[in-house]
Amino acid sequence: MNAEFDLGLERRIGKRSAAVIEKHLGITTVGGLLNHVPRRYLDRGELTPIADLPMDEDVTLIARVLSTNSRSIAKTQARRALQVTDVVISDESGGTSSSSPHMVASTLKVTFFNGFRAKAELLPGRRAMFSGKVTRFGGALGLTNPDFQLFDDDPEMTGKTPEELAAMPVPVYPATAKLSSWSIQKVVATLLETVDLETLTDPLPRDITAREKFLSLPEAYRLIHTPETSADWPRAQKRFRYQEALVLQTALARRRAEHAGQEATARKPTGNGILAAFDQRLPFTLTAGQLSVGKTLAAELARHHPMNRLLQGEVGSGKTIVALRAMLQVVDAGGQSALLAPTEVLAAQHAISIRRTLGTLARDGMLGGLSEDGVHLTLLTGSMSTAAKKQALLDAASGTAGIVIGTHALLSEHVSFYDLGLIVVDEQHRFGVEQRDALRAKASQPPHLLVMTATPIPRTVAMTVFGDLETSVLDELPAGRAPITTHVVGLTEHPAWWDRIWTRAKEEITAGHQVYVVCPRIGEDDDGDFSPGEAAPPPEGGSTGARELASVTAVVEALALEPALAGVRVAALHGKQDPALKAETMADFAANKINLLVSTTVIEVGVDVPNATMMVLLDSDRFGISQLHQLRGRVGRGGLPGTCLLVTTLEQGHPSRQRLDAVAATTDGFELSRRDLEMRREGDILGASQSGGRSTLNLLRVLKHESIIADAREDAQRIIGADPNLSGHPALAEAINEYLNPEKEAFLERG
Ligand code: ADP
Ligand code: MG
Repeated sequence: MNAEFDLGLERRIGKRSAAVIEKHLGITTVGGLLNHVPRRYLDRGELTPIADLPMDEDVTLIARVLSTNSRSIAKTQARRALQVTDVVISDESGGTSSSSPHMVASTLKVTFFNGFRAKAELLPGRRAMFSGKVTRFGGALGLTNPDFQLFDDDPEMTGKTPEELAAMPVPVYPATAKLSSWSIQKVVATLLETVDLETLTDPLPRDITAREKFLSLPEAYRLIHTPETSADWPRAQKRFRYQEALVLQTALARRRAEHAGQEATARKPTGNGILAAFDQRLPFTLTAGQLSVGKTLAAELARHHPMNRLLQGEVGSGKTIVALRAMLQVVDAGGQSALLAPTEVLAAQHAISIRRTLGTLARDGMLGGLSEDGVHLTLLTGSMSTAAKKQALLDAASGTAGIVIGTHALLSEHVSFYDLGLIVVDEQHRFGVEQRDALRAKASQPPHLLVMTATPIPRTVAMTVFGDLETSVLDELPAGRAPITTHVVGLTEHPAWWDRIWTRAKEEITAGHQVYVVCPRIGEDDDGDFSPGEAAPPPEGGSTGARELASVTAVVEALALEPALAGVRVAALHGKQDPALKAETMADFAANKINLLVSTTVIEVGVDVPNATMMVLLDSDRFGISQLHQLRGRVGRGGLPGTCLLVTTLEQGHPSRQRLDAVAATTDGFELSRRDLEMRREGDILGASQSGGRSTLNLLRVLKHESIIADAREDAQRIIGADPNLSGHPALAEAINEYLNPEKEAFLERG
C-alpha cells in the first residue's frame, strides 16, 4: 500500500546510482534511502576540531588547506614513478580541544598517492570537506587518500545568495570508506527530486501530528536531508523520533494486549497449603511493598490470563521472598515453578538459600508427587553429573519437582515440564524479548511470567526493553538496614593505604564483625566467576595492563603475611571449588567461624550474613557499576553500618575509575543503573529485536529521550485500546512490521 516507499531505488535514481547505493549501503528501496538520515550536521562556516576526531573510524571533516607539496618517488620495478602529494590541513584552532586537553593537534597531514586532482585543487587557503580514516603515524595524525570536496566552488549551490549558502548546514551521512557523505548527499538530492513524497502514507495518526505541531511527512523528509537553516533539521528529527517511539510502543502495546487475550491456567491461592505454612514461619514481617506486590502477583496468578510482570527493586529489597511466595502459590495449586538465574553459580546459590529459607518445607526425597507438607526443590545446571542431570530432568518432566532452579539450560529443548505454571527470571537485565518468548514456549499453555531485575532500571528502559511487561517496584528496604559508606582507595597515589585497609578490617573483626574481600580472579590462569555480560570491560589504556589482577589464591597467601591480620581466620571461596567445600565454607562464614572471606563474585547474590560489615573489592575497576552495587549490598544488612572499599591501581580521572567514583557517590540504584546503561551502546541495551532494522531511522535514544518515549507509550496504549488490531491505522501497522525483525514478526503472527 505504501508503494512509493517499497519501490526499487533504480526506478527513481537510475540503475547506476542504485547499484552503488546497494553495494555500499545495502539499501535497495526508496524508503530505505529516505530513512538513511544524516548522523549529524556540520556548520558550513566552522572548521572541524581536529583534536576531537576519533581514530580509525570513517570521519567527515571541514578544514582549510595550509600547504600542498608534491614529490616523485622512483619505483624500481614499476614503470612509472609514484607521485606523492602532501597536503597539510588545519582547523585554525591553534591546538585547543574541548574533549581532550592533552591532544594539541590542530593540523592533519593528508597524503595522496598519484592524487592529481588533489594537487590541482587543494591550494593553500581553500576550504574543503574530507572523508576518510584518521590514523596516527609516529606522533602525527594523518589521512591517506581521503575523498574530498572543495567548498568554495560547489556547483550544486548555484542559485543561492552567499548568505543563504553560509546558513545551510552540511549533512553528514553515515559514510563508508568507499562512499563519502557528499556522494550519498547527491544521490539523496536526486531522489528527493524524483520521488513522490506526497503519496507516502504517514504512520503518525493525524491527531498526534496536529497536537504536536509536527512537520508533515514529506516536509520532514525534505528538511532532514536538505536543511536550509540550522533550525530545520531539529524539527525534522523531532517528528521522526516521535514516530520511531510510537512505532515501538504501539508494537509493545499490541503485544501486551495479545498477552491479555491469551488463556492461562489459573493458579488460585488455597489458603491452607505450603504458602500459608511458609508465611506462618517467616522470621520477619514483610514490608508494605512486599505485601502489596505479593497481592498483585497472587491476584494475577489466579486469573485465566498469563501474568507478564517485571519486578524491580533496590538491592536487598527482598525480591526473592516475593518470588518464592508466588512460586509456592503455584505449587499449592498443583503446578510447577521454574526459577532462572544468569549463571550456574548463582543458580546454585539460589537453591541453597531458598532451601534454607523454606527450612522443613523443602523436600529432597525421591518420593513422587507433590507433597501436602513440602515442596520438592530441584537444581538443574549444565555442570552437574550426568546422573544428577538425568534425575533432575526426570523430576521436572514427571512433576515431582515443584520448583526447578537453573540457568539458561532450562531453555534447552531437552527440558520438559509436567505442568509449568510460573517462570521467574531473576537478576537479569539482559534477558530480551526473544528469550522470554523461548521460555514461554516451554509450557503447553502460556505460563505466568515474573522477571526480576538485578538493579532498578530507568523508567525508559522499563518502557522499552521490558515494554511488553507490566511493572512493579519494591521501593523500600526491609527495616533494620544500616547505611553503607563507600570509599575509592587509589593505591597508585597512596601505596601505604594497602596496609590501612587491613588495619581497618582488623578493627571490624575485633569488634566481632566479618569482612568480605572480593577479587576479579580465582588463581593464576582463569577468568574468575564473572557473570557473562556483567563484567566491565578491561580499562582502556590503563597502566595495569601488564600487572596481575588480584586473585583469590594470591590474596589469601598475601593476607597470611599481613601483620595487621595476625590471628584472623581467613578462608577462600570461589566457583571452581567442590560444591561440598563451598557449602561448608559458607556455613562456617555464616556461623562466624571465619572472620574474613576472600572470594570471587560468587557472593554477589544469595549470600546473606548480617554480621558482615565490611567489603573490600580488589581491582574493583574490573567490575561493572551494577555489579559493584550488587556486591556492596551484601553488607549493612544486620542493622550494623557497612563499609565498602573500592580498591584500584588506576590513576585518578581514568575513565574506568570514574565508574568507581560514581558508585562511591551514591547508593541510589536507579541513578547507578542509568550510569551503567549510559556506558553501553544503544543496541546492547535494547537487544536485537528492538534496536531496529535497516528500515528505521534510529534517531531515538533510550536514555536521552525519556519524555518522548513516555508520551508515545500513552498514545500507543490509547491507540491499541481503541483499535486493537490497528485496522484503522494501516500505515502504523505497516511501520511496525518494518521496524521489527522477521523472527519477532513471526512470533507476533503466531501469538
Ligand atoms: P534482592 O531484592 O536484592 O534480591 P533478597 O531477596 O536477596 O534481595 O533479600 C535480601 C535479604 O533480605 C534476604 O536475606 C532476605 O531474607 C531478607 N529479607 C527479605 N524481606 C525481608 C523483610 N521483610 N524483613 C527483613 N528481611 C528481609
Ligand atoms: Mg536477588
